[in-house]
Amino acid sequence: MLQVRKIDAFYGANQALFQFSMTIADGGAVSLLGRNGMGKTTMVNAIMGIVESRGGAIVYNGENLRGLPPYRIAQKGIGLVPEGRQIFPNLSVRENLIAAANRGHYRGAKNAQTLTWDLARVLDLFPTLKSRLARMGGQLSGGEQQMLATARALMLNPRLLILDEATEGLAPLVQQELWQKLHEIKQSGVSLLLIDKNLDQLTQLADHHYLIEKGALVWHGDSARLNATPDLREKYLGV
Ligand code: ATP
Repeated sequence: MLQVRKIDAFYGANQALFQFSMTIADGGAVSLLGRNGMGKTTMVNAIMGIVESRGGAIVYNGENLRGLPPYRIAQKGIGLVPEGRQIFPNLSVRENLIAAANRGHYRGAKNAQTLTWDLARVLDLFPTLKSRLARMGGQLSGGEQQMLATARALMLNPRLLILDEATEGLAPLVQQELWQKLHEIKQSGVSLLLIDKNLDQLTQLADHHYLIEKGALVWHGDSARLNATPDLREKYLGV
């Protein structure tokens, strides 16, 4: 579904990605692993068109996304739950959700029925938000804000949902709840690209893992191989 092929990215004269490649299958879940500052967010932002990429290609359903503005990429069915959530603090929960609604790009898709997210369905997934609909985004707890950011991204009806440090800073019980929701989202047929520090949860949810070091791909493999290679964790993840 998504193929990143040999992408470079720069901040001014500083190169942040070096010939980076990765693949996400339709309905699959993939993690992007690496220590702080290694280029994970840059990779996500390159997919979304927020950071300009050079060389190679980012092919999504047969179309090269490189050069498209972020809103066009989102409309094509890639949803981002960004680092830091970035919900609208001065809009109500309902307004945050409605502002994102988009159903257009799904018309005609063979599994459109099972993949259509609307207000009722995201509230079924996150019942806590139901009782908070009139509350301002900025008045929610951290966990509720994360649920809102995830629900908002689902309102775009993405076929691929990208979550950048979604569980960061949340209490363990809230994290646990969010992981459970991510399993449900995956089961609904949405593909996932995950950045997170919780390797145990990532190896349960994701099928394939990409390890990034100083902007370059240093390893990729499935959960069994990652679990069976403890020195990878020490060498590249410091855990
Ligand atoms: P973190 O988990 O800390 O967000 P990361 O793996 O997502 O880390 P990036 O944020 O992609 O890493 O950063 C990769 C490199 O690019 C780092 O060296 C960082 O300093 C640099 N960088 C990131 N954003 C910018 C920016 N806006 N301007 C200049 N350099 C940047």
